[in-house]
Amino acid sequence: MSVLEAEYFVERGHFLGKNGHINGRLVKERALNDPHILRNLVIQLCERTVEYSPSLIVGQKNAGARLAALVGAKIGVLSLQLNKPSVDTSVAPPRISLAPLHKERVVVVEDNVTTGRSIGQIKQSLSGYGADPVAVVTLFNSGQATAERLGVLNFEALLDPEITCWPADTCIPCADGTPRSLGMLATHRTNG
Ligand SMILES: [Zn+2]
Repeated sequence: MSVLEAEYFVERGHFLGKNGHINGRLVKERALNDPHILRNLVIQLCERTVEYSPSLIVGQKNAGARLAALVGAKIGVLSLQLNKPSVDTSVAPPRISLAPLHKERVVVVEDNVTTGRSIGQIKQSLSGYGADPVAVVTLFNSGQATAERLGVLNFEALLDPEITCWPADTCIPCADGTPRSLGMLATHRTNG
């Protein structure tokens, strides 16, 4: 049982999400910006991570990489920070020279998994080095992700904020006449 409840990190309401309307908005800052809470969560992430006997911890910038570094330092395993793929094609991607990683037991640490898009990016980056992660361990699962849906062998989440997503045209709160929460577009923007 978690010492911290998922509900603490969610603002409930009727929001416009990236892929439809959602019944709550995850406030990751409550986990990542409070040293006491973060320490507790990292300890729990470590407990999940060591079960896979990793030889390398990987996280994608920014929050995922930060958590991966904290977990790696705590369990004494090297951590690697991946950049997000560049969306600007006029800029050449940075050349990273890494030894092949196919012998490594790679565990990916994430802050939040929603659509699985970033997991797809990480898997693609790793496959360039011959590596396939043995597990993905995340702080939050806010999109009902599963190992199968993510295409990974193992998937674990510490906290499930139970954020439900409806397509805009069949949204249940809209059908019930629930007004949409105010200020949501601004907060979405600032939280990326
Ligand atoms: Zn709606």
